[in-house]
Amino acid sequence: MHAPSASPQLIARVEPLTLTRAVRGPFDYRLRPEQSDVSVGSLLRVKFNHRTTLAVVLELATESELAPDRLAEPDAVLPPGVPADLVALAGWIAVEYCSTPARALTLVLPPGTAGGVSRKRALVAELTSAGAGALRGEGPLNDRQRAVLEALERDGPTLAAALGTPMLRRLEGRGLVAMALSDQRRRPASTAIGRRLAGAPALTGEQQAALDAVLGALSARAGGRFLLHGVTGSGKTEVYLRAVQETLAAGRGAIVLVPEIALTPQTVGRFQARFGDVVAVLHSGLGLGERHDEWLRLRSGEARVCVGPRSAVFAPLADIGLIVVDEEHDASYKHEGDPRYDARSVAVRRAEQHGAVLLAGSATPRPESAVALTRLRLQSRIDRRSLPPVELLDMRGAHHSLHPRTRMALADVRAAGGKAIVLLNRRGWSNFLCCRGCGHVWMCPNCDVALVLHRAADQLACHHCGHRRRAPNRCDECGSVAVARHGSGTESVEQEFREAFGQELPVFRLDADATSGKGRLTSTLAAFEAAPAGVLVGTQMVAKGHDFDGVSLGVVLDADQTLRFPDFRAEERTFALITQLAGRVGRGADSGPAAKVLVQTLAPDAESLAFAARHDSDGFLAAELTRRKLLGYPPHGSLIRIVCSGPEASGGSVVNGAAVANGAAEALALATRLHALIAPSGATVLGPAPLFRLRGRSRSQLVIKSSDRPATVLAVGAAVDEIAADAVRRGVSVSVDVDPQ
Ligand code: ADP
Ligand code: ZN
Ligand code: ZN
Repeated sequence: MHAPSASPQLIARVEPLTLTRAVRGPFDYRLRPEQSDVSVGSLLRVKFNHRTTLAVVLELATESELAPDRLAEPDAVLPPGVPADLVALAGWIAVEYCSTPARALTLVLPPGTAGGVSRKRALVAELTSAGAGALRGEGPLNDRQRAVLEALERDGPTLAAALGTPMLRRLEGRGLVAMALSDQRRRPASTAIGRRLAGAPALTGEQQAALDAVLGALSARAGGRFLLHGVTGSGKTEVYLRAVQETLAAGRGAIVLVPEIALTPQTVGRFQARFGDVVAVLHSGLGLGERHDEWLRLRSGEARVCVGPRSAVFAPLADIGLIVVDEEHDASYKHEGDPRYDARSVAVRRAEQHGAVLLAGSATPRPESAVALTRLRLQSRIDRRSLPPVELLDMRGAHHSLHPRTRMALADVRAAGGKAIVLLNRRGWSNFLCCRGCGHVWMCPNCDVALVLHRAADQLACHHCGHRRRAPNRCDECGSVAVARHGSGTESVEQEFREAFGQELPVFRLDADATSGKGRLTSTLAAFEAAPAGVLVGTQMVAKGHDFDGVSLGVVLDADQTLRFPDFRAEERTFALITQLAGRVGRGADSGPAAKVLVQTLAPDAESLAFAARHDSDGFLAAELTRRKLLGYPPHGSLIRIVCSGPEASGGSVVNGAAVANGAAEALALATRLHALIAPSGATVLGPAPLFRLRGRSRSQLVIKSSDRPATVLAVGAAVDEIAADAVRRGVSVSVDVDPQ
């Protein structure tokens, strides 16, 4: 330690935003006197390891272990920086998800920090005192000039373009008007499609009781976590709206998390319609400039409600009173890049930081939430309609993709000119191609999976790595032209329906292929809503929280698709999918009394299907919690998954200048070492187990089950740090997933 110099130096402890695991801050920089306004969260440009990089200030100090003259000064301070509470949150995320502080900090930076945001400026005119004098008769004015000056007097500073720039320039020349360029906030277009956007309805008794519980916690300012467990169409959104309204009235801000915005424009629209400009929307579909400006509106307090998908949990609001997580069961709340954070857990943490109330809602809550949150129930649908009956159809031994009852039900919809939604959780035309001559199956060259035929594009595609090739006319191996297509996907079902229904019943398709263009998703949904009759065919997207009138039939073509998934959440997913689809059926006045849901399955005895058919989400939760307790799965224990992957041995890949003999062996070796490092912590470590090859990389997996989550998270973090440098040398990447989905 060096003795502090006479006038204490101001030192900034910063985390450089480099993504390698090997570098871990904080590092000290000496601030210049004119940089005294730097605080926790300030963004700096610094020299680090002979490179220029961005860095976030974690702490201020007056002394450093290094002598002042050995400390570098930052090159620049880049406003606006990050609020201090988000810096703390990023620190928590880095530990909780076994990531690094730098990676976690990149989640909370203002949009466009890395560059690319241009300022949008416009000419604004303002009345001068000479101009005001002229209006009182101190100078000659013609009628048009008088009208313009009166408008400026009435409205204050106004965009010049709105009043006529040439005329204003002449008035400016006479000193009657002042003109200046001013920064303009870019605002995203309102997404208010849909209907029923009018004023607030009177709450039902159930809604009021739920709201009262939330408001009690809100006014006590002591936090509180609630799960609004309400059947589909029970008016959960209205409860969120009222809770937000009271939060605003108390002078605080609110975050409303929704699953993907494009699939839930109606929810966003309802918030915008109710609260107007105080609502900011943050999502990746916006331009960078728009996102940047919405972020600033939140940071400055101009906007106090942020609606958006999982990343909106990082909205820079100063005093948060309420965080809503709508459709809390939705898988999109889990982030798939490092850090693999879960926005639902981050929301709990952020609410804690702010003394805010957490309000999660769903018709199909996760077992984790049912245990951890105070449950508020909405038992009946607003319109008093009962939920549609759900019928399971046994497809064992069937020779056609549609059960006779499905076929009849669709014919009834066509005859009545009604609407149906058909769900098949597989996009493309057919599952896989197989040569009838030699049995050759077309596989992805990078992954150990079969390629899926997409007939419209005349391509075979890998749904994992995106590899595409032309669809074959003949076998690559034996030259036979007899190529069989197995299974069906949304594309072939769409075609089948078009041929069967002709002009009478239009077919709409909703999946990641049909909707890749910007705005296509919204326009498909809007077209189906506006059409008097039609069938909407698609992947699980069709079951999200849409509020369509008059859908009298819901069909799940292959309920086993999710059930067969080798995952402890398979039951939960299947139950949620069917219940959510049922929630789209029989809404509004004109869906008819005969609304129903048909579920085709090869496993008609599966418990999750039986619970879904009975609309029994309490029964499902109870059974699922018992099952998970037996197996030590969440919420009775935590899971962490570690995947080590190495480049496959294709004639000796070169990584960092060194030839890697065998990526599979390297990945396995590192996974084995991690196992040995983590096992002493007391957690159960399963594996290494081989995973199928993905994106040209061989993979090895460990699954860690723990009943002492904090200790295991720390042990895993330490183990991964310990092997980090070695992993880089061997060309192995290590990905840690805490609470994998
Ligand atoms: P959920 O989110 O539970 O699926 P919504 O909030 O979408 O349900 O409500 C379903 C419909 O009922 C919406 O169109 C909503 O505007 C309407 N609604 C909600 N609460 C009331 C109420 N108290 N009175 C009348 N209509 C309501
Ligand atoms: Zn062949
Ligand atoms: Zn692939």
